[in-house]
Amino acid sequence: MASTRMQLTALAQQEVQIVSDAYPGLFKEMPIRASKVAEALGMRVRLAPNLRQRARLDCFDDGKTRTATVMVRKDLDHNVARFALAHEVGHFILLERHADLAVGLDARAREGFSNVFAAELLIPSACHGPLAERLLRDTGVRALLGLASEFGVTLPMLLVTLSQHNLLRGLDGFYLLIKYMVNKRTCLEPRLRIESAYYDRERYFVPDNQSIRSFARNSVLEWLNSLSIGIGSSAKSIVKYNMKSEVTGKFKARESAAVLDALRLNPSSHDGAEYFVMFVGLVPVES
Ligand SMILES: [Zn+2]
Repeated sequence: MASTRMQLTALAQQEVQIVSDAYPGLFKEMPIRASKVAEALGMRVRLAPNLRQRARLDCFDDGKTRTATVMVRKDLDHNVARFALAHEVGHFILLERHADLAVGLDARAREGFSNVFAAELLIPSACHGPLAERLLRDTGVRALLGLASEFGVTLPMLLVTLSQHNLLRGLDGFYLLIKYMVNKRTCLEPRLRIESAYYDRERYFVPDNQSIRSFARNSVLEWLNSLSIGIGSSAKSIVKYNMKSEVTGKFKARESAAVLDALRLNPSSHDGAEYFVMFVGLVPVES
């Protein structure tokens, strides 16, 4: 199963490459205009006011004419709409160019293909090298938000892409999405928890699902609670994480001083819960 997923990932990446080779003009500037890509591929794009899902692909074929139309829900945030549209382009490519393969795939595999396609389309692999350099140079929440808006993607999508391609390599710090939520395993104890953590996985390990109280000092919780939406702030704390030993190659628990940089985001669109993004910059230990 894992190998099928890897093959689909490779195929999605290859298809984005084919599209970008065919239409280089559409890939010169960020953000990529997903609607232009769709139109270049012969699709129509329409905004729809009352769509249940974020976007939908309607294919029509009466033997004489064939049309493919992507309907995108009208009220979506721009960057969410862009991803939804790019995702439907992925479905179109799979159906058009790999029809035999598509028939044999389950819904999850098809969704996986389209998600990889969309991420690759919006943050093309040609950008990965320069992106990794910038992430080392400009750290912090503001820099991260700047990158998300430059590529026209949501913060979670950017972070997932950075992590998947290991673009945070060499960074002495972690980006965290923090949310007021129950423990994922027990469904109990709602509190501010690390929903997801992004970092150089070759060197660090930061468990998600843990509460902020167990990751950092108590004062950090009060500090986060005091932030207003869109207002960034920084603080210092001791944080706990795991670091790979260069000698044994095993991860070992560590504590060190860090400068935290956080911003309260709009409440989660999914459940309305409090939501934050944080950069944890580890302070080098003097030896
Ligand atoms: Zn889909």
